[in-house]
Amino acid sequence: MTMDNQRRIIRDGAVVVDKDRIVAVGQKSEMERNYAFEDKFGGEDFVILPGLINTHCHTEASIYRGLCDDMSLMEFKKHVLSKTIPNYAPGDVYVASLVSLIESVRNGVTTILDVGVNKEESAEAAKRMGTRSIVAEAMMDCSLGEAEGPVESTEIALRKGVRLFERWNGVADGRIKVWFGPFTELLTSPELLEKTVALADRYRTGITMHLAESYETQSIIKRTYGRRIFEYLEHLGILGPNLLAVHCCWLSENEIRLMKKANVKVSHCPSANMKLSDGVAPLSLLDAYGIILSIGTDSALCNNCNDLLREAKTASLLQKVAMPPLDTQRISAQRALEMITIDAARCALLDQDIGSLEPGKKADLVLIDIKKSHLMPVLEKPKVNIVGNLVYAGSGHDVDTVMIDGNIVMRGRAILNLDERTILDQFQEASETLLERSKIV
Ligand SMILES: [Zn+2]
Repeated sequence: MTMDNQRRIIRDGAVVVDKDRIVAVGQKSEMERNYAFEDKFGGEDFVILPGLINTHCHTEASIYRGLCDDMSLMEFKKHVLSKTIPNYAPGDVYVASLVSLIESVRNGVTTILDVGVNKEESAEAAKRMGTRSIVAEAMMDCSLGEAEGPVESTEIALRKGVRLFERWNGVADGRIKVWFGPFTELLTSPELLEKTVALADRYRTGITMHLAESYETQSIIKRTYGRRIFEYLEHLGILGPNLLAVHCCWLSENEIRLMKKANVKVSHCPSANMKLSDGVAPLSLLDAYGIILSIGTDSALCNNCNDLLREAKTASLLQKVAMPPLDTQRISAQRALEMITIDAARCALLDQDIGSLEPGKKADLVLIDIKKSHLMPVLEKPKVNIVGNLVYAGSGHDVDTVMIDGNIVMRGRAILNLDERTILDQFQEASETLLERSKIV
């Protein structure tokens, strides 16, 4: 399943990889005639897909999984995050990120956009895991409404972002990239946002930000700055093709027009939006405007898992009932799959290298075993049903093998490059001691 421009699905297909790049994609018999192989894997029961791309996640949040269920964002910020974040011990974010990355690979995710605190440790974890990661340090220098965050001075917030960039951008054979992460519109001053844009231009990198997540956010920004969120950002000169806006549940049509005009990209996190009662992003309307869309799992506090295929199903189904007139045509399985592969690569500003199976691109791919009761029959007539089967009936558990940058990271569902059990034991202990130290009751 190439996800190339023609969205070709090649029966009896094969992908030839040399070092970190794809060199050929085509019919297996032709590949076997033209190339000599050191190793072959897969077979007729497998589908090869480009590695999945999760455009919004906080890998460190796995350390709290299951702790804030059925709470609102404000409640868990107040009861948990405000106490635990100041109490992180060195290594907590590392081990929590590593566990999230193991979970991600198990779900076929080869690239992850990871925003949060202590992201040097997340970058270290990505380096060890072998994942392709974009890390962004959360920048917060003010607090509007009831939003609570570990607020710092504008200068310190910016310095942290720059330090991460200078130390980590391009590390691990270029697998790690660094973006800037002004956290939300309520936790960042106009000054911080303007300076972030100047930095992103200077370093030629991306910016990601939670925006218009809740109805209340729109009201607070309107009260404070006299404009709706994207109008305020346009006024500041923040909107541009390197901005990945996360959530975008509450938008006016004028804001959508401004986003399109500036080629802003979107990461949609349907499970998190539902679990936190945020609202429903107008995904099909954004799609109709031609805005480039992708999907994120968000945090283990509010999803609670990193199964991106399941998230693609959720995104598709939710739109079909999102607004009247109800319409089954909205966000098809094919569109949802594009949003976790090729369009996600465009959102991550990495579509030259990843997102589809094409010669010259990086060898990031996943093999899915489709000889399973829930994924059959596999039909070509009267219609090709494999995309629908994967999105609507499949899940991350069906992923068998994962290659990132030409390295096999998981094969036959065994993680190859680290001792998973030992890491899980360390993670359990880190979680228990952090919660004890932070006096979470
Ligand atoms: Zn988030």
